[in-house]
Amino acid sequence: MRKGISAKLKQQIALRANFRCEYCLLPDKVSFYNFHIDHIRSLKHGGSSEVDNLAYCCPDCNHFKGTDIGSYTIDDELVRFFNPRIELWKDNFEIINGLILSKTDIAKVTEQIFKFNDVDRVIFRIELIKLGLY
Ligand SMILES: [Zn+2]
Repeated sequence: MRKGISAKLKQQIALRANFRCEYCLLPDKVSFYNFHIDHIRSLKHGGSSEVDNLAYCCPDCNHFKGTDIGSYTIDDELVRFFNPRIELWKDNFEIINGLILSKTDIAKVTEQIFKFNDVDRVIFRIELIKLGLY
């Protein structure tokens, strides 16, 4: 099912991401669990294990994303998820009072499916912001 990704490549991807989840920006140093390497376009949908299709990803974002590649907006339009290889986080999202808010439809479907603003994640994010770790 999942092709192996070498430890060297994983380290390269973590470094490129500055050791933060490329979707919710959680720093890996504050996580009890190892971060994952996400296939932005999942293998199931024809994605590759090449570096341009890989993202450093916290366990929560990776779990909620699964093999999905997009979702529907409130207007019933199918939209792909945010792709950290081709667009900037700050152009799509902003953090206000611990909430990750969406600026685009791409961001909105990503925020909803990845559950960026589940209450436990927001409380943790607020604490990290207070400590200067986020
Ligand atoms: Zn994340």
